[in-house]
This record gives sequence, structure tokens and C-alpha cells, in this order.
Amino acid sequence: MRVLLVEDDPLLGARLGDRLRGAGYAVDLATSREQGEDWPDLDSMAAVILDLGLPDGDGLDLLRHWRAQGINCPILILTARGSWQDKVEGLNCGADDFVVKPVRFEELQARLNALFRRQGGQRDTSLRAGELVLDPITRTVENVGEPLALSRREFALLHLFMRRAGQVLSQIDILDNLYDLEAERELNTIEVLVGRLRRKIGKHRIATLRGMGYRFE
Ligand code: CA
Repeated sequence: MRVLLVEDDPLLGARLGDRLRGAGYAVDLATSREQGEDWPDLDSMAAVILDLGLPDGDGLDLLRHWRAQGINCPILILTARGSWQDKVEGLNCGADDFVVKPVRFEELQARLNALFRRQGGQRDTSLRAGELVLDPITRTVENVGEPLALSRREFALLHLFMRRAGQVLSQIDILDNLYDLEAERELNTIEVLVGRLRRKIGKHRIATLRGMGYRFE
């Protein structure tokens, strides 16, 4: 899953980015209001984590701008401003959650997971496909009741497939979801990764559509 982090504090941006990557997210970083304003393809983000105190303006203006543009992705405000008026204003501007710094990473992650559940219209925290069950909170997978050991990338790929079951995902879609923009991006990495995942969950679960991509069945 890909998240955009809007944070001007370099230390906090780097630290939070590392924690998020460690938790399996691909992370893009914007450090100013201007950078965030024209961020391409925001709707493909799983979520945006938005700081309010930006060097060239207010994060709330950015939030209003995005919502006015029809951007629908979940937005979580992460700010040092913690008065009830700030929270009311933030939520009323279109934020989906409002978290006051400092926050434990575990809480932030739990809040993100809650956003994803709400967006998917589900309450159960697990994703299921037949005998395959993936729990994004404990980051575990079971197949026919047996725990399945997956690498971080394999888990991220399976999570993506299960969230978009039945849809065709191109190699580019998968790269965008799993890897940072700055990372070395090679399409054959995806082929290898899909091959490894197939061996673990069963070949039949992932169909190859020649020239188009893959579909989780
Ligand atoms: Ca700031």
C-alpha cells in the first residue's frame, strides 16, 4: 500500500517514513504545501498523512484544495495542534482522522488500519479468499488453517491482490503500490515476486492476463 506523507520536519519525515516502510507501506514524502498541491494520482494512495504546520502555508488549505478537486482518498491529520477547535475544523474540512503529535507508531498504524476498513466498508479486520485468510493487523496469513510464512514484499503483494480481488493489476500498478518512487523499479522484479507468491498460495489463485497483468481469483 502506498501512502503520501506530508511533513516538513526532515527528522520526523525520515523517521516516520522508515517506520511506515518497515510496516510494509510504500511511502512518498512531500515537504511543503506547494509540493502536496499538485501531487499526481492522489486517489491511488491508500492514505495521506498530513501535517498542518507547513513552511509555505496551512495543511488545512491543502486539505480543502484536495477535497474541492474531488480527491477521495483517506486523509489523516497528524499535527502538534491539539485543541478541540483544531480537531473540529480538521474533520469538518474533510479529514478522516485527527491525531495529535507525539503519537506512538502503533497507534498511528491502528488508526490507518481502521481507515482502510472503513473505506472498504468492512468491520472484520481480516481479508478472506476461500481458505486463504490475511490479517493486516497481526500481518499473518493462513492457508487452509495453517500459518503461511511470507516475506515482507510477498505479504504486501498478497494484501494488494486480496484488496483488489477480481481486478486486473498491471505490473506498473503493482510497482506503484509496493515500491517507493525513488526505489529501483524493475518490472521483472514483479514477475519474480508473483512467481514466489504463487508457489506459496497455489498457482491457480493468480491468473496472468497476457499483456495486461495479473488478477487474483
Ligand atoms: Ca510541520
